[in-house]
Amino acid sequence: MQPGRVLIIGAGLAGSLLAVYLAREGWTVELVERRTDPRLQGLAAGRSINLAISARGIKALKRAGLEDTVMKDAIRMSGRMIHPIAGSTGYQPYSADPTRAINSVSRSALNLGLLNAAAAEPNVTVRFDQRCASVDFANGEVSFIDDRTGATRTATADLVVGADGAYSAVRAAMQKSERFNYAQDFLSHGYKELHIPASANGPHAPFAMEKNALHIWPRGESMMIALPNPDGSFTCTLFWRHDGAGSSFANIKTGADALAHFKVAYPDAVALMPTLAEDFARNPVGAMVTVRCAPWSRGRVTLLGDAAHAVVPFYGQGANASFEDCEALVDALASSATIGEALCKYEGARVANANAIADMALRNFIEMRDLTGRRSFKWKKKIEHALNRLMPATFVPLYDLVSFSTVPYAEAKARGAANDRAIRTGISVGVSLVVAAVAVAILLVTKAIP
Ligand SMILES: Cc1cc2nc3c(=O)[nH]c(=O)nc-3n(C[C@H](O)[C@H](O)[C@H](O)COP(=O)(O)OP(=O)(O)OC[C@H]3O[C@@H](n4cnc5c(N)ncnc54)[C@H](O)[C@@H]3O)c2cc1C
Repeated sequence: MQPGRVLIIGAGLAGSLLAVYLAREGWTVELVERRTDPRLQGLAAGRSINLAISARGIKALKRAGLEDTVMKDAIRMSGRMIHPIAGSTGYQPYSADPTRAINSVSRSALNLGLLNAAAAEPNVTVRFDQRCASVDFANGEVSFIDDRTGATRTATADLVVGADGAYSAVRAAMQKSERFNYAQDFLSHGYKELHIPASANGPHAPFAMEKNALHIWPRGESMMIALPNPDGSFTCTLFWRHDGAGSSFANIKTGADALAHFKVAYPDAVALMPTLAEDFARNPVGAMVTVRCAPWSRGRVTLLGDAAHAVVPFYGQGANASFEDCEALVDALASSATIGEALCKYEGARVANANAIADMALRNFIEMRDLTGRRSFKWKKKIEHALNRLMPATFVPLYDLVSFSTVPYAEAKARGAANDRAIRTGISVGVSLVVAAVAVAILLVTKAIP
């Protein structure tokens, strides 16, 4: 179809990338963001967490010519480094192929890189401090409030995209319309960011621990992870229950309590965290939500990224999936005669995949916080990697399919389940053969003895 005018609500990761894509396809783009221009506040503005970007995100960035800009400061993480309570750390590669890695990048640098690329396109107008307040689906009209002045205005376009994150105002407006299915599930766990500073000493200096790994402290019901930053520091994220006894944010409230708890539960980390008590007391507890909804579109208005499918962060795929949405929407627009046809194709390509990664992300929380610390998990990974080396075309482990390929998530999920069945069958056949061999041996021995 002929490019027209598009209004994108939310200049986060997905909205900014979509603006770049559509501008280059000839669309006139208005990108509207609730927050103040992060370029006025420097790099540190916004959420400070780093993100793991993998094959899907890299492919989408490459398509916009942004791979080098974004990936130049990325740190490769080729496996998990497991920190038990006692004993030494253990490294588990993510793939049988040692060249494969996920990449730690700064969220604010990524967002800024995408925003700069969007703003550099001559047919993109970016407006900040404008909050989407309501959407009229009948005529595709959106009203905004300027948070500095309180002034309101309305805008419309041929296509309106709600890329306004997990708590989307556009989606909230859709929820008021008929036959809109919606489910929101908050996790019982929250998260809090902590910090390991760079270190001048030690074998990994300026890093205090192995640089090229995602560090995990699995503790059964809870865990901490740490991702490396280019300045030698690590951003740690603590995942604890909101409520209850033991490791919960309700139970351990003060910096002093946290310090005492860490000395017992995370003894090797506490030695690397000189500001633990202050960080714990200062940093907020975040909530994690899974959102599933359908349909994603009403008339000329559609949802994209977390607005359409917020997922918990344990597969490191929320942003990667949101970037895939951008590609799917642009492809659908380019291959359709009308907006209606394009939005139908876009949803057809994405809804089942979004639901699949939502399921896999929830499942991966149990894997990270509990299973990674078990010997059986290590063996399962070893078997998967050995089978992958033997049959690279037919047996690809689920982690590789999700993080190192662009196979649709729903297909990856189905193939992962088939892999598990094959391994279970192989083990039970192997066990049966051993039992049969032992039985035959006993029979022969007993027959031989008069
Ligand atoms: C702790 C944590 C760790 C994560 N780790 C990873 C990871 O390792 N890898 C990964 O791929 N993903 C990760 N994610 C998920 C990732 O952050 C999101 O999937 C991604 O940011 C989604 O991009 P988005 O553009 O849809 O939403 P956002 O990036 O949230 O952007 C939405 C934008 O819309 C704006 N907005 C909101 N409301 C309005 C309004 N009413 N009007 C106008 N503008 C509005 C917001 O200010 C924001 O700029 C993680 C998430 C969390 C919470």
